[in-house]
Amino acid sequence: MLSLPIYMDHHATTPVDPRVVEAMVPCFTETFGNPSSRQHTFGWAARDAVSAARRQVADLIGADPREIHFTSGATESDNLAVRGVATAEPRRPLHVVTMTTEHHAVLDPCRRLEREGVEVSYVEPRRDGICDVADIERALRPETRLVSVMTANNEIGVLQPIAEIAALTRPRGVLLHTDAAQAVGKVPIDVGALGVDLLSLTAHKMCGPKGIGALYVRRCRPRLAIAPLFDGGGQEQGLRSGTLNVPGIVGLGAAAAICRDDLAREARRVGALRNRLLGGLRARLAGATGDGSPAGGGAAAGRGWTA
Ligand SMILES: *Cc1c(COP(=O)(O)O)cnc(C)c1O
Repeated sequence: MLSLPIYMDHHATTPVDPRVVEAMVPCFTETFGNPSSRQHTFGWAARDAVSAARRQVADLIGADPREIHFTSGATESDNLAVRGVATAEPRRPLHVVTMTTEHHAVLDPCRRLEREGVEVSYVEPRRDGICDVADIERALRPETRLVSVMTANNEIGVLQPIAEIAALTRPRGVLLHTDAAQAVGKVPIDVGALGVDLLSLTAHKMCGPKGIGALYVRRCRPRLAIAPLFDGGGQEQGLRSGTLNVPGIVGLGAAAAICRDDLAREARRVGALRNRLLGGLRARLAGATGDGSPAGGGAAAGRGWTA
């Protein structure tokens, strides 16, 4: 049964899967303890729930649970990645490379750094929205410390060649951050295969609740230099102080588990719907053109099309 209006803006946000809501409900009234309370069973129960969710999120992206740091969403994760790396070692010279097509959650912290005297290079994509890796390479300097390029674009769905960019940054000791808010849960993401050091994700773009996300921070020795945005109780290994949002975290974990199970089937289903919609538009609307590139993964991601 078709019910109107039809919601077609899943890049802006998604409805919460009923199974996610079900997983969250007990956290409000039963598992309501503070996971930082180490002295009693209420705290332990909340801590166990958080640990299970951390593993679910880690499993979705091929990470170790200790590499997952819960935040309030991709905006905070992006700010933490960009600003955290930029301010961690104040005495070192600093240059940042990003793209003109990044989300404002990356672009605006970069602009703020520029106002503070940091040099930032903004690489333009090609016409299809995908970056030319050679342009990233040309932008690198001896003092470049961070490259930030999103995995999937929030407007046209193109996938950027993150692994190829990592092949440039890794040998040079440059950190690579990717905003994967639009990719996680929709296309297979493996942080090891991508070669990224930092990755942002958010629950509300993958059938989870709003106001919860995570920053993956690669474990390495010595520890990757990143400073917290704010100070306080030292939660999340000191990277994100503040009492944990247990219901949100449990919801993100449940959403991650569902996405992991459904990813291949959903990609096929959404891809078929996309093709049907675009076929219909093209048949009825003369001169319709599209943005993006299926060659860049847009098609695989269930987004993007050719004119
Ligand atoms: C939605 C989105 C964000 C912001 O995420 P929030 O969790 O809403 O803060 C950041 N980057 C991209 C690419 C997004 O699509």
